[in-house]
Amino acid sequence: MNFYVLTLFPEMITDTVSHSITGRAIEKNLINVEAINIRDFAGNKHGQVDDYPYGGGAGMVMQPGPVYRSYKSIEEKIGKKPRVVYMTPQGKTFNQNMAKEFAKEEDLVFLCGHYEGIDERVLEMIVTDNVSIGDYVLTGGELPSLVMIDAISRLVPGVLNNDASAETESFSDNLLEYPQYTRPNEFEGKKVPPILLSGDHAKVDKWRREQSIIRTYERRPDLLEKAELNKDDKKTIMSLKKQ
Ligand code: SAM
Repeated sequence: MNFYVLTLFPEMITDTVSHSITGRAIEKNLINVEAINIRDFAGNKHGQVDDYPYGGGAGMVMQPGPVYRSYKSIEEKIGKKPRVVYMTPQGKTFNQNMAKEFAKEEDLVFLCGHYEGIDERVLEMIVTDNVSIGDYVLTGGELPSLVMIDAISRLVPGVLNNDASAETESFSDNLLEYPQYTRPNEFEGKKVPPILLSGDHAKVDKWRREQSIIRTYERRPDLLEKAELNKDDKKTIMSLKKQ
C-alpha cells in the first residue's frame, strides 16, 4: 500500500513512520510512505506558499497553486486519480471502520493543512474525503495523517506479526478488548486471573468475552448498541444493570 503525504513538514512524517511496526513494514515493502514537500511546488524563489485571507481575519491561508501542483505530481506518477484525504477538524471523525475501508486502497494521499487551512477552491478540486481525528484543533494535519497511516497500516496483511490480533482487538466488533496480562503472574501482590493459567482455552475464551462485555458496558456503552450480542452477553449485561 502506498501512502503519499502532501505537507509543509515532510520530516515529521518520514521520521515518525521509520520506527517500530511501520518502520519494519516499510523495510519489508509492505507499505511505502512518501512525504511530498508542498513548498517544492511554490513556483516562486522565496518558497512562499501562504497569503492573507481575502475578506480579512486572523492568520494565513495556504495558496491553491502549490497544493494543486504537488497533488498533480502524484497523479502523474501513479497514472490515476487517487483518493485524497484532507485532514481537517471539519471532517467525519476517523474510526476503526474507516481504517478498514481505507486499507483496501492501493494508493492513498493525505493532504495536511497548516495555519488557518487551505484555499477552498483547490480542496473542491482534489479532495475526496474530509477526515478529522477528533473535536479539537491542532496546528497542522501531520499528526492526524500519521494517526491514520498507523491505524491503516496495521490492517495491511503481513504488517502485524500475527494478523489475528487485529481481529479481536477493540472496536473490531463494536466491543472493547478484554484486559491483557503477562509475566510475572504476581506483581506487587496482585495476581493474574487464575483462569488465564488454567490452560482451558474454551474457558479462557468465555472469560475474555465476558470481560469484553463488562468493559464495553462500563467504558463505552454507546458501542454496545451496535454490537452483535449472544445469549450469554445479554445475561452479563442484565446482571450489570442490576448492580
Ligand atoms: N481554521 C481551521 C478551522 O477552524 O477549521 C483550522 C485550521 S488548523 C489550525 C490547521 C490544520 O490542521 C488544518 O488545515 C488541518 O489540516 C489540521 N487539523 C487541525 N485539527 C485537526 C483535526 N482535529 N483533525 C484533522 N486535522 C486537523
